[in-house]
Amino acid sequence: MKTIGLLGGMSWESTVTYYTRINELVNEKLGGLHSAKIKLASVDFEEIEQCQVNNEWEKSGEILGKDAQGLEQAGADFLLICTNTMHKVAPQIAEHVSIPILHIADATIAELQAKKIKKVALLGTKYTMTQNFYKQKIIESGIDVWIPNDADIETVNQIIFAELCHGRILAESKEAFINVINQAIDAGAEGVILGCTEIGLLIQQEDVAIPVFDTTEIHSQKAVELALAD
Ligand code: GLU
Repeated sequence: MKTIGLLGGMSWESTVTYYTRINELVNEKLGGLHSAKIKLASVDFEEIEQCQVNNEWEKSGEILGKDAQGLEQAGADFLLICTNTMHKVAPQIAEHVSIPILHIADATIAELQAKKIKKVALLGTKYTMTQNFYKQKIIESGIDVWIPNDADIETVNQIIFAELCHGRILAESKEAFINVINQAIDAGAEGVILGCTEIGLLIQQEDVAIPVFDTTEIHSQKAVELALAD
């Protein structure tokens, strides 16, 4: 079994999900007392979030790059960046290591293609929804991307940072997300990407009428497949 390196803490609420799901999936596959071999680097998220707000992406890439280096030195065979947003600096992080990074968007695109989705709604932080580093990969794979209107982008972003990253799960925020997803369905979306690793804490498949692509779950599954591959 390969050792999985997790760059986590963004936020730690979703890193808990990664840790749980990766261990559960390894145990489902191997049985007994088997669990995953994991090295975890967990950042102080305030520091990273300040870099986002101040448009200091390079600085955040340096912080994460150093942690990635530490994971490689500690014996990780490959890396997961446990946030969609910080994949903006994935190329910079990759420069610090010689082990591969399992990109969250690539993992998600593979699932979208397997389900033959042609148009998908993307929910995440405002950076993920409005900038190109993530969206463009999906578009280049031949899938149309729907994002919410400006007001809803703000609402979704606010719920992520002010609630979900603090572990606050509120019924009215769930309603707000469902309302946005229903707009996406009206606009022809055949699936919805939970493109922020905390959204799965709020929205589950049974809440909506179209297939849900939970990036935390997909990323965890792909990591376990890779860790157990020959
Ligand atoms: N975990 C979130 C994501 O997947 C947001 C936190 C962050 O900005 O890194 O994008």
